[in-house]
Amino acid sequence: MKVLSVAAEIFPLVKTGGLADVAGALPAALASQGVAMRSLVPGYPRVIAGIKNIEPVHGFDSLFGGPAKLLSASAGDLELYVLDAPHLFERDGGPYGDATGKDWPDNWMRFAALSKAGAEIAAGAVAAFVPDIVHVHDWQSALTPVYMKYGSAPATPSVMTVHNLAFQGQYAADIFPALGLPQHAYSVDGLEYYGGVGFLKGGLQCSWAITTVSPTYAQEIRTPEFGMGLDGLINARQGGVHGIVNGIDTGVWNPETDRQIAKTYSAKAMSNREANRRALAQRFKLDRDGGPVFAVVSRLTWQKGLDLLAGALDGIVAMGGRIAVLGSGDQAIEGALLAGAARHRGKVGVVIGYDEALSHLMQAGADVILVPSRFEPCGLTQLYGLRYGCVPLVARTGGLADTVIDANDAALSMGVATGIQFSPVDTGPMMDAMRRAISLFHDKPVWKGMQQAGMKCDVSWTRSAALYANLYKSLLKQKNP
Ligand code: ADP
Repeated sequence: MKVLSVAAEIFPLVKTGGLADVAGALPAALASQGVAMRSLVPGYPRVIAGIKNIEPVHGFDSLFGGPAKLLSASAGDLELYVLDAPHLFERDGGPYGDATGKDWPDNWMRFAALSKAGAEIAAGAVAAFVPDIVHVHDWQSALTPVYMKYGSAPATPSVMTVHNLAFQGQYAADIFPALGLPQHAYSVDGLEYYGGVGFLKGGLQCSWAITTVSPTYAQEIRTPEFGMGLDGLINARQGGVHGIVNGIDTGVWNPETDRQIAKTYSAKAMSNREANRRALAQRFKLDRDGGPVFAVVSRLTWQKGLDLLAGALDGIVAMGGRIAVLGSGDQAIEGALLAGAARHRGKVGVVIGYDEALSHLMQAGADVILVPSRFEPCGLTQLYGLRYGCVPLVARTGGLADTVIDANDAALSMGVATGIQFSPVDTGPMMDAMRRAISLFHDKPVWKGMQQAGMKCDVSWTRSAALYANLYKSLLKQKNP
């Protein structure tokens, strides 16, 4: 079975969040299910710089304002199509904005172009790879199913995966003519969204199947609280939304072989973890001894609940916790965290920025990975935490609820607790959960049991890849009943 995946990021070439990890790991995971997946990604400078075996396979005379090429290429085990469109992608900065983080004003065009290229491949533009299924991710590739339905490949099944319903790609109605879709695509059944154009909305409407990245989030987005204006549409979709939890790349994230940490270790040889704890304390200028180190590796945003952490630093230090934060995002949150670090030298350390290698050391060297998200479609850092014996302390929402077993009395007595959950997401419940973590941490056998229970969890892609493969098969049956 040939599947084309279309995504705006892919690890290890370009990553701003979980989407890249998923897009990068799924092809290998699906290979063992008999699925040959190729991924279409934008030709950002760092993608062009990172690919090999480049061969042009298709040309566009004019794609949203300039000529473009589809390149067949590879990067490690990834088989890629790269949309080489310099007028859209050859820029300094991030995938979505300039170096200051400001979104590019022509993002609608950049990702309409990516989507259009996906639909062209679906329609057979590259004879060597005519996909049986097209799988798109988030709003940036959500127009692919729209272009397919209203033109190029209405009979090819498409799957749309929502990694975060909060990012929708919403634009004014006046961009519609430039998209090159027939007029009737601007309707409630198509792209029209509250009087404008909704990329994600169009993808949800036109794809054959919708998935999201955890069963709990699949339920939550049916409600007004989490549905972000799309709950009505989602509830109306026949077949509903499939919740398939993300796995992680257990080759990249493996404490037994990880070269980005101070010392490798395993569930059986946990004492080697100590060297990572020391290295982390040094890196964040934390006191060598004291209570557990709570780590955060995250975008620093309201969604992630990190305003709550920033406001609670004094209390957390007072009850004996130490804190290490790696991330960037809202200036107010960054500022409050940095001010906290200045007030509590030795107890609170903050690194503003994005650092893949340091994120590995944090999972290996912290005691707790803290994820107090207000909503969380899946979340990956708690999965890395499980694998590294860094006990997750999470809000009971979305994928966090699905992947962490709370250390309640029953779970502790059975030896199956892997972390700590709290709800609702507010300062009080978060602090209570941290207090619970501190007390468990000081009970060494219990804490070690939790770490080891987490490390035993299967957080690989094995089960979820099978679920995606089954979904693809069911769609092919729908096509050829
Ligand atoms: P989201 O995609 O909503 O940002 P996820 O938990 O799904 O959240 O994925 C976040 C990914 O990005 C994880 O792989 C995490 O380790 C990584 N990450 C987030 N912030 C940083 C950072 N500042 N430095 C390094 N890695 C980061």
